[in-house]
Amino acid sequence: MSPDTDLAARIRYVLVRTSHPGNIGSSARAMRTMGFGRMALVSPFRFPDREASALAAGADDVLEGAVVSEGLVEALAGTSLALGLSARRRGVDLEEISPREAARRALVAAARGEQVALVFGNERTGLENEELARCHAMVRIPSVDDFSSLNLSQAVQVMAYELRVASLGEVAAPVRADAEPPADAAQMERFYEHLAQMLDDIDFHKGRAPTTIMLRLRKLFQRAQMDERELRVMHGIFADAQRMAQIANTTLKGNKD
Ligand code: SAH
Repeated sequence: MSPDTDLAARIRYVLVRTSHPGNIGSSARAMRTMGFGRMALVSPFRFPDREASALAAGADDVLEGAVVSEGLVEALAGTSLALGLSARRRGVDLEEISPREAARRALVAAARGEQVALVFGNERTGLENEELARCHAMVRIPSVDDFSSLNLSQAVQVMAYELRVASLGEVAAPVRADAEPPADAAQMERFYEHLAQMLDDIDFHKGRAPTTIMLRLRKLFQRAQMDERELRVMHGIFADAQRMAQIANTTLKGNKD
């Protein structure tokens, strides 16, 4: 994703009342490395500034394009989803989500053509309650309780990274035309029936109730998300096991007779 792709262009990073111009520069760099270029600054303490440019380390295009406004409402203009980054809850009744979930929601919205804002607070005071109240959810990077606050630009980096990974996943995992179709629920039910029958035939249960083990095996095979070809292989294995069990039973019986 480069800064001019449609999705990236619909996601803006809003830095509210930033005290240190160096953090604005580092944030621009963090964004740029992950393919983002839209920065909005709400009442920055000092901007433009030499320190911001120095720490941007070449991401000057992001700084040059930064839109400065006086209030958050103005910075959020046109957005339909705002996610507020905060190290701690502040008595605001707002859903708390992880950076990963935030990235997912942001991309879904951006893919629908919506504009999305990620809102970051002041270095010392964070986001005020009124600012968080403008957001649809609060994003908390799961840091430790007794030292929870990341440097502003590092919080920007975490969020930009999650968005980057999520967007690469979307591109990298298209459904291949020649891929085997995944097994559906009915096919899985038939698979479990065959599995249970086969276990019975090979006398796996030895008098124990099969309920618990079948639940365990269900969990295991649900996790595997098998496709139809894999399912056919498993049915083949079960059928062979059943055939061998039958041969063994017949032989045993023959020996007894
Ligand atoms: N003392 C402030 C810390 C602000 S750090 C506070 O408690 O909020 C500057 C900004 O970086 C924060 O406003 C937030 O947007 C972001 N940030 C820092 N640590 C974070 C974390 N653990 N989770 C989410 N955002 C975080």
